[in-house]
Amino acid sequence: MFMKREFYKSVSFKLAVLSVIILTSLITSSFMFYSQIEKLKNQIDYIYFGNYIPVLKLHNIDDNYQALIKCIKTQKVCDRQAFFDNIKKDWKYYNNAYKSDSERKVVNEINKDILASLNKKEKLSTYKAAIKKINFLKEYEKNIAYKKRQEFLKEYSSMKDYLFYNVILLVVISFLFISVIIYSIIKKDNQLKILTKKYAIESITDSMTKLYNRKYFDKIFDNMPFISNANKWKTAFVMVDIDFFKQYNDTYGHDMGDLTLKAVATELKNYFNKEYEYVFRLGGEEFGVILFDIDEDILKECLKDINKSIESLKIEHKNSKISNFVTISIGAIIYEPNSYISCNKLYKLADENLYKSKQNGRNQFTI
Ligand code: GH3
Ligand code: MG
Ligand code: MG
Repeated sequence: MFMKREFYKSVSFKLAVLSVIILTSLITSSFMFYSQIEKLKNQIDYIYFGNYIPVLKLHNIDDNYQALIKCIKTQKVCDRQAFFDNIKKDWKYYNNAYKSDSERKVVNEINKDILASLNKKEKLSTYKAAIKKINFLKEYEKNIAYKKRQEFLKEYSSMKDYLFYNVILLVVISFLFISVIIYSIIKKDNQLKILTKKYAIESITDSMTKLYNRKYFDKIFDNMPFISNANKWKTAFVMVDIDFFKQYNDTYGHDMGDLTLKAVATELKNYFNKEYEYVFRLGGEEFGVILFDIDEDILKECLKDINKSIESLKIEHKNSKISNFVTISIGAIIYEPNSYISCNKLYKLADENLYKSKQNGRNQFTI
C-alpha cells in the first residue's frame, strides 16, 4: 500500500502522466486538424461547383436569344427590348465573373460578337450565330470546370498525404523529445535518490570504523526497551573496551592505533552480523553492541567467542600487562521484557560490568 502511494508521488509517474497528456492532445489536435481539412475540401469543392452558376447565366442568355428569334419569326408583338436587357444583364454577370487568362481571351473574343448582336438593327442570323457562340461557351465552361476539379482533387490528395506524414513526423519527434526528457529526469532523480540514501547512511555511520555512530546508538538504545517489550524479546546491551589502548598508542603510535581500532571494529562487525544485531562505536576505543531477541546462554557463548577471536587477531601489544596481543574487556546486561528499567540505568549497569571485567584482570566479560 505504502509502496503504491510512493509510486504515485514519484517523478516518473508524474512524467508518465504528462507525456500521456501531451501525446493525447497532439493526436487529438491532429485529428481535429485533419477533419477541418476535410471540411475545407468540401467547401472548396462547393466553390468549384459554383462554376456552374455562370453556366446557368449562359443558359438564360440562350433562352432569351431563342425567345427573340421565335418572336421575330412569328412576328408577334413582343418586348424585344426586354430580351436585350435580360441578355445584357446576364452577359454582364457572366463576363465579369472570375476568368483565368486563357478563359479571358476566349470570352473577350465572344464578348464583341454578343455586344454587336444586341444592336437593334442586327438580323436573325446574328442571333443564331450568337446562340452558337453561347453554346460553345457552355461546353467550354463545363470542360474547364471538370478539368479544374480533377486538378484540385489531385492536389488535395497529395496535400492530405503530406499532412498525414507531417503529423506522423510530429508525433515521432515529440515522442523522442519527451522520451529524452523523461530519461534525463529519471536519471537525475535516481542520482538524487542514491545521494540521499548515501547521506542517510553517512549520517549514522562512524567515518573511521564504518560502524554505526554514537548518534544512531542513542536512537536505537532509547527505543530498545519498547522494542523488547513489544516483541517480548530479551535484549542484550554489550559494552566493549580495548585493554591498555593508551599504552598501545604510546608504543606503536597513533596511526597504528587507528589501524588497530579499525581491525577490532571489523572483527566485531563481522561477528555480530545477523538480523537484529547492531554494532556501534560509542567513542574512542569503546564499542557498543545491541542484540535483540537473545538468550543468556547464547550471549555467554558469544562473548567468550569474541574475547577469543580478538586475541586471535594477534595484533602485537608488548606493553599490555595481560597478553602479548590486543585484547578487549566486556560488560553486558540483559534487558528482560517489561522490566521497565530506564536506559540511563541500563547503560550504567553495563558500564559497571565493564569496570568489573577490567578490575578482574581484563580480556574477559561480565554479565
Ligand atoms: P583500559 O584498559 O583501562 O581501558 O586502559 P586504556 O588505556 O585503554 O584506557 P584509557 O581510557 O586511559 O585510554 C584510552 C585511549 O584510547 C586514550 C586515547 O589516546 C585512545 N584513543 C581514543 N580514541 C582514539 C582514536 O580514535 N585513535 C587512536 N589511535 N587512539 C584513540
Ligand atoms: Mg576507554
Ligand atoms: Mg581502554
